[in-house]
Amino acid sequence: MTEKESKYVYKKKSAWEIFTKDQIKKTYDFAEEYKKFLNAAKTEREAVQEIKKAAKKTKKKIMINREKEAAIIIPGKKPVSSGLRIVISHIDSPRLDLKQVPLYEDPDSNLALFETHYYGGIKKFQWVTIPLALHGIVVKKDGKKIIFNMGEDEKDPIFSVSDLLPHLSHEVQDTKKIDDAIKGESLDVVVGSIPATGDVKDKFKTAILDKLHKDYGMTEEDFISAEIEVVPAYKARDMGFDRSLIGAYGQDDGASTFASLKAILDLKNPEFTAMSLFVDKEEIGSEGNATAQVSTFLRSIIKELDPKVDIDKVMLKSKVVSADVNAAVTPNYTEVFELKNASSLGNGIVMSKYTGHGGKYSANDASAEYVAEIRTILNKAKIPWQTGELGKVDKGGGGTVAKYFSRLGMEVIDLGPPVLSMHSPFEVTSKADVYSSYLAYSEFLKK
Ligand SMILES: [Zn+2]
Repeated sequence: MTEKESKYVYKKKSAWEIFTKDQIKKTYDFAEEYKKFLNAAKTEREAVQEIKKAAKKTKKKIMINREKEAAIIIPGKKPVSSGLRIVISHIDSPRLDLKQVPLYEDPDSNLALFETHYYGGIKKFQWVTIPLALHGIVVKKDGKKIIFNMGEDEKDPIFSVSDLLPHLSHEVQDTKKIDDAIKGESLDVVVGSIPATGDVKDKFKTAILDKLHKDYGMTEEDFISAEIEVVPAYKARDMGFDRSLIGAYGQDDGASTFASLKAILDLKNPEFTAMSLFVDKEEIGSEGNATAQVSTFLRSIIKELDPKVDIDKVMLKSKVVSADVNAAVTPNYTEVFELKNASSLGNGIVMSKYTGHGGKYSANDASAEYVAEIRTILNKAKIPWQTGELGKVDKGGGGTVAKYFSRLGMEVIDLGPPVLSMHSPFEVTSKADVYSSYLAYSEFLKK
């Protein structure tokens, strides 16, 4: 290839090659804070608490909806009527939820267990035989709230879903399709094994109820007004000899959430009013009153910022980044990716013009003009970025919150880091991509 030709070729480049020495140091420093955030915010409620703490510490304006949705806002030089700049990420991750009547005993195995109902798109076989923690709240009969967090401290007990030994799994698992091998109903969590003393009916169940009453003052009926989520009990860790990667639960969408949180906290004097918005229930289709499908919270924020403003006009003038992760090219399975248009770990933040499935169904397809605008922002600031499409055409697909905000008349584009093993209990990101995301959101919110 001649010198002249190569000038016009679109080439992907590793962020590790683009970053200066100083930026690489910042990349590693950023990752330390990021890991702490992942460990502290494994659920949507915990994420809101962390966001609240950070906003308070930096004296930033924060608005909260039902402890499950939050927004941090920085007023711009221009009036609200000229539109907003918003980065939106989601704070829920795939997991197992306890059912409303979860506790039962299996006298044949001498165990007490919790029934669960899985939340979001999981591969069920990934959730057995790993250490699990319980996070959430219980609202008792008297209205008092118990915060549940069991399994994170080294001294805490952990929990787990059991699985069949290979010696006996041939007929019931090994010869079945992987999707049928582990049933949703069998994702039950072991919670105890000492029987209650005396003449009681369900000895193992009774013993656990007694313990829960002693420790938390709760009864079995209290589970009905509870939200207890079962999540991996381990902490975020560096991965690889070079420590370039992070392995952890909840990086979809913890990576974008933390990057956009840091971006808004560090932002000074933006042109337009800037906002980082954190929403719930993305993993189950953004249904509910603290989600991207319901714009009431956003409308109420705009109204509070300027009561005289025409909200629809503000939305039409607003620009949005849908900050969600993309599927990184996965070793040994490259056949499901169209490699020219797929994202890889380490090449920076991923820009997706569209998502969806089939013939771009259910996609937000950002306009070429808006893509150009974002591309220019990233290039000017020398931020590593790449394009990304979720798999080959007709191989599958997926969506983000982008479409719900474009429906409101806003310009929206998907921009987030790539993730390996997405939706698994142990997702992997590149530190360089997470830091690129922070730089990208910062630059976008400034303009
Ligand atoms: Zn996501």
